[in-house]
Amino acid sequence: MQVVAFKKRKLSKKEQKAADKQAVIDIDQNRDGSNEKPEIKEKKKVAVPEVVSVKDFAERSELPVTEVISQLIKNGVMANINENIDFETAEIIGDDLDLQIIREEEEVSDKESEKLSVASSKNLKPRPAVVTIMGHVDHGKTTLLDKIRQAHVAEGESGGITQHISAYQIEISDPDAEQSSHQGKPGKKKKMHSITFIDTPGHSAFSTMRSHGASIADIVVLLVAADDGVMPQTKEIIDHAKAHNIPIIVAINKVDLPNADIIKVRQQLSEYELIGEEWGGKTIICELSAKTGKGVDILLEMIILQTGMMELRADPAVLATGVTIESHMHKGAGALVVVLIENGTLRLGDPFTIGSVYGKVRILEDFLERPIKSAGPSVPVRVAGLRSVPNFGDRLISFSDEREAKSAAEKYLQRSKIRKFAAAKTISKDEKTEKALNIIVKADVAGSLEAIKKSLNEFKHPDARIKIISEGVGAVAESDATMAKATSAIILAFRVAISLPARKIIEKEKLSTMAYDVIYELVDDVKGILQEMLPPIVSETETGKAKVIAEFRNDKKSVVFGVRTEKGVLKSGDQLKIISGGKEIWRGKILSLRRGKDNVSEVPSGIEVGIGLSAGAKYSIGDEIIAFQISETKQTL
Ligand code: GDP
Repeated sequence: MQVVAFKKRKLSKKEQKAADKQAVIDIDQNRDGSNEKPEIKEKKKVAVPEVVSVKDFAERSELPVTEVISQLIKNGVMANINENIDFETAEIIGDDLDLQIIREEEEVSDKESEKLSVASSKNLKPRPAVVTIMGHVDHGKTTLLDKIRQAHVAEGESGGITQHISAYQIEISDPDAEQSSHQGKPGKKKKMHSITFIDTPGHSAFSTMRSHGASIADIVVLLVAADDGVMPQTKEIIDHAKAHNIPIIVAINKVDLPNADIIKVRQQLSEYELIGEEWGGKTIICELSAKTGKGVDILLEMIILQTGMMELRADPAVLATGVTIESHMHKGAGALVVVLIENGTLRLGDPFTIGSVYGKVRILEDFLERPIKSAGPSVPVRVAGLRSVPNFGDRLISFSDEREAKSAAEKYLQRSKIRKFAAAKTISKDEKTEKALNIIVKADVAGSLEAIKKSLNEFKHPDARIKIISEGVGAVAESDATMAKATSAIILAFRVAISLPARKIIEKEKLSTMAYDVIYELVDDVKGILQEMLPPIVSETETGKAKVIAEFRNDKKSVVFGVRTEKGVLKSGDQLKIISGGKEIWRGKILSLRRGKDNVSEVPSGIEVGIGLSAGAKYSIGDEIIAFQISETKQTL
């Protein structure tokens, strides 16, 4: 199988489109001379995956294959009916065929996407908000998540929360109902609200998880420490949230600190259009201390208020769909997945898929690891029943029939193979020109693996890059060590053990293995290695200039001639080049400098001096001599 694609194009797609549009307008104006707006025809939309066969493209576009092929040929692409074209190629010929090519949501087939579309449901019910707390590292995210959990989750009943739980749900009473009960209506049953919090790690290494977090969250609580202000990650989070159209509630944290400067933080935030109501804006900004707990309940009330405005709805009556926020291998239970249910209800025994993995819900637990029978929208659950660990961010889709689940998983696998093939093709293109650092990554959970990969893939340089040879969740196995040996790869073990057979090979073959439990340390080290691989930038600095004025000696041993120095200094041992008629004709080292009968180590400008070079040096009277020093500067990423 081969994927054919355009080589270098003269115009970018945007430029081409603008040019085409302009051409249409020009033609229209020439024709009738009027300034009326040209009529814009609605183009037919065709959804296309990342890689599509010519035949499939023709079927999707409802065009004869011959027309598609001839359009490809017109654009310089020779492809037969069974060959694949990439999305960009499809987009370009689509333009010519008067089609609007859109990207097909690859993870889901049409039928599945219908399932995922909550809007099409007739039985919509309010659902709790899914909230993610984000902020620059050390701005207090963990402290705040803990504070809320301690105050609102009865952990004692279950013996505590496990280390890897990445979501929890709290229940709080309605702020308005609370008020009315204070006003003398004690008998009235309190109205309760649930809020689901999902935890997304704070360091920039986790930007993948953070963007996933932002796309599954309904509300982002942006934490800004009052003593530190808006920092790079704060900006990144604002961008993510805006890109996903997710409302931001700002929590200015650490107001208990003596050096807290709330006004300054508010000013900084206003530069990002986050302006509090007090300053005439629309953003909810809370001031709190995650440490003392002051202001935390107000934040929760604000979340409820914001949720009320958003009218979040889902249909609990249909089969469940959800998104994986955590997954790892568990000794007794097999693959354990934390899923946030987005729509529908997941029940014990339901057949389901997550990406290319399928199974049946064998164990269903709430976030406190208590067994439950079913879970509805916005509920985080732990699910067991899959044979292998799915990828972070992959969607859970449940089915009424196991065979359906199996075939959906197979289809997904097929699609991802095509994607991998396309990616591999790109890699082999680059290999000729770049040095690659081969890496094998093993991590404890799929989320960390995803975050590590994302960070590593950000290191791009024309002279060196990272090539992830193999990746996976779980201990470093014998096969990883064998693979590392075969590909001269470095093994990166993130919070995982190294199996005994693997250890033996590693020791015997002296393979580079690095173990970490902090992502940014891993990322920093790999960056360091990659930087070492970069060739230094070699530069020449001119230190002196002279002109050849006399010929003294030219024999098998050495070449000696007289020069007059014009600029700078000439030093014995310096590098030197001879320029004749503007061209460099020789380069080497200054072996000796002689004034009269004395050997000297250096001469300033305006002096006549004899220069000794090694035999074979070429020169003529009148040539230019340039002395220079070579310096090497390390390149950085
Ligand atoms: P994260 O990196 O965003 O998860 O930050 P942490 O929750 O780990 O907090 C970083 C540091 O700030 C810790 O030492 C916390 O005790 C401290 N911290 C968090 N919130 C507050 C607060 O409201 N007031 C004060 N004084 N310290 C806080």
